[in-house]
Amino acid sequence: MRPPPPFEQPIYVTKPFLPPLPEYMARLESVWASGWLANNGQQHQALERALSAYLGAPLLSLFNNGTIALIVACQALRLSGEVITTPFTFPATPHVLSWNNIAPVFADIDPVTLNIDPSGIEAKITARTSAILAVHVYGVPCDVEAIQDIARFYGLKVIYDAAHAFGAAIDGQPISTFGDATMFSFHATKLFHTAEGGALAVGDPALKHRIDLLKNFGIKNESEVAMPGINGKMSELQAALGLAMLDYLEEELSARRRVAAVYTARLADVPGLSLMAMPAAVKNSQQYFIVRIGAGGPAKNRDQVHAELKDFNIFARRYFYPLCSEYSCYRQLPSASPVNLPTAHWAAAEVLALPFYGALSDDDAHRICDALLYVMELSPS
Ligand SMILES: *Cc1c(COP(=O)(O)O)cnc(C)c1O
Repeated sequence: MRPPPPFEQPIYVTKPFLPPLPEYMARLESVWASGWLANNGQQHQALERALSAYLGAPLLSLFNNGTIALIVACQALRLSGEVITTPFTFPATPHVLSWNNIAPVFADIDPVTLNIDPSGIEAKITARTSAILAVHVYGVPCDVEAIQDIARFYGLKVIYDAAHAFGAAIDGQPISTFGDATMFSFHATKLFHTAEGGALAVGDPALKHRIDLLKNFGIKNESEVAMPGINGKMSELQAALGLAMLDYLEEELSARRRVAAVYTARLADVPGLSLMAMPAAVKNSQQYFIVRIGAGGPAKNRDQVHAELKDFNIFARRYFYPLCSEYSCYRQLPSASPVNLPTAHWAAAEVLALPFYGALSDDDAHRICDALLYVMELSPS
């Protein structure tokens, strides 16, 4: 078989969607005219309202990024001691615990959803446990009911990292309505972004009040600072970008659905390769397109496929590899031992995120499949 031609330009795992520049400029003109660049200005207020409606999250607070939002959520919920979390995530998830002087305790993941497996949580609970920090990986929802049952029984808080789950819903119920707090990231690599940005959605008005104080240094009024807060504020420039983005969100979503349809048609029945399944009741956030390249199937493993795709100028990513429990800062933790996390290790060796963004044409998607099948030494289907 002759190799398919490589791409002329590198194809990365994502490419940020950007609204037409004149539309952003028009919003910037009103920012310039107001002379108000930060601290809950008009753009900030408008974006908070718009996202609150879009996400079905009445109590939403915007942030300068998702990591600070999670750090503030831990503070606002007064978490301490130990928090049970997943190793199969982005570094920010366990790091926000460390930044709060909380010890992450890793629990293994479910082999199908790749989210924290509720059946392994109870065994990790100690007198020091204060919460469960779970991640809706790739926008596939966690088993929110099982997690809530455990949290209720043991008196634990629940925080969800929904960085991948913007707009996701279970049976029409918005993803942000589960747990005590839900974080969204608006980083440039996310479907909806403000270059850098994030948000927290909560259900308790008093909690929202504490969060809004904490993200602004704890400043209560001109003469009172109530608590040691941090600077988590989103600027007017970021909020204006978010507002301009929102007008094009549906367009980007349908373009991503089109790319996903090509990938699914080409890759669904390939031996040795499997696709992540989204449960039927779930509204897909279209954040990533993940394939799993199983050991034992084709001659090549995931790492070889990942490396050889680069010859075609295709830069897929191994999300998530390595596991957080393998980082030098965490691997000495008892819960980080590989024997404790067999499914997570298996998943981290198999997953590959294909380039996935609306600006990919159908032809691009087909060429990516051609290269993938060639590298796996399978005839194109
Ligand atoms: C992107 C991401 C974050 C971090 O969000 P930032 O806005 O970049 O700080 C946290 N968790 C997960 C799972 C992410 O993908």
